[in-house]
Amino acid sequence: KGIALEAAGILLSSQETGDNIKMLNARSVLVTGSNRGIGLELVRQLVGQSKKPEWIFATCRDPKGPRAQDLKNLADKHQSVKIIPMDTNDPSSVKAAAAQVTEKLQGAGLNLLINNAGIVKPGCLESETAEDMSEVYKTNVIGPMIVSQAFLPLLRKASQESPQKGMSCSKAAIVNMSSEAGSITNLLVFDLGHVLGYRCSKAALNMLTRCQSRGWAKDEILCIALHPGIVKTDMIQVDQGQAPLTVDDSVQAMLKTLGHLSEKDSGTFLNWEGETLPW
Ligand code: NDP
Repeated sequence: KGIALEAAGILLSSQETGDNIKMLNARSVLVTGSNRGIGLELVRQLVGQSKKPEWIFATCRDPKGPRAQDLKNLADKHQSVKIIPMDTNDPSSVKAAAAQVTEKLQGAGLNLLINNAGIVKPGCLESETAEDMSEVYKTNVIGPMIVSQAFLPLLRKASQESPQKGMSCSKAAIVNMSSEAGSITNLLVFDLGHVLGYRCSKAALNMLTRCQSRGWAKDEILCIALHPGIVKTDMIQVDQGQAPLTVDDSVQAMLKTLGHLSEKDSGTFLNWEGETLPW
């Protein structure tokens, strides 16, 4: 029903079509940090799509460890899920992952890269340490930068191969999982925790996103910073009552949002529902 109406040029919201993620139609997707939390749920919902990607590269730093068991169970059930080892802090691991993905794609490009892996440390204004701040910056900013660089040739290839005009997450896109905690204007939930290094890292990730969107516009690669909401995962140390979103709801909304993006959205900072956030 949704497809027929789309063909008729009528843009329906996914709720109207009765399928939350019909509009995202990427042939290949890569998710970093996909063994738990939001990353795992992204993989789970992508394989549940009626038009699921042919390849879902679920990357994580320790595929053999106990924390990857849920992902392994998912991959056992779905051939499209390919588990690839990748520590986003380690350039040689990122390079090796890009080589594996290139081989598996057999000449095709990568449509959608989701830089999801991230960490938080509890540092407050008075107690934040140089070591913790550096580690958080390394994972939350340098990681997405080197991963994007490593997969750029595959994203460019996807963009060049696509018959679609303009930009979309189904064609070629980088989604950087940011946070409203890094919004300089909003400083979301500052009174609940300074998480200084984390806020600074996400503000820097937002700048990286703006630079990527500007630099790779000529390649028609859509780049956005996305805030998933305050979601109940291992990361959230606040009382779970203050995390209003389940991982299921957050990911459903984000996939719906990704399905609707076009070139006018590239270089923006959006929340899970597609609303624009101030930098
Ligand atoms: P979790 O702590 O539940 O999961 C984090 C994931 O990142 C894990 O899979 C972890 O792997 C992975 N990871 C961390 N460091 C690395 C690394 N060096 N290499 C590869 N993987 C790594 O967090 P969430 O799922 O909640 O968060 C996902 C993203 O969403 C993060 O970027 C976070 O900042 C962002 N976000 C989350 C919010 C929330 O409310 N939950 C709010 C705003 C933003 P491992 O198991 O090996 O540690």
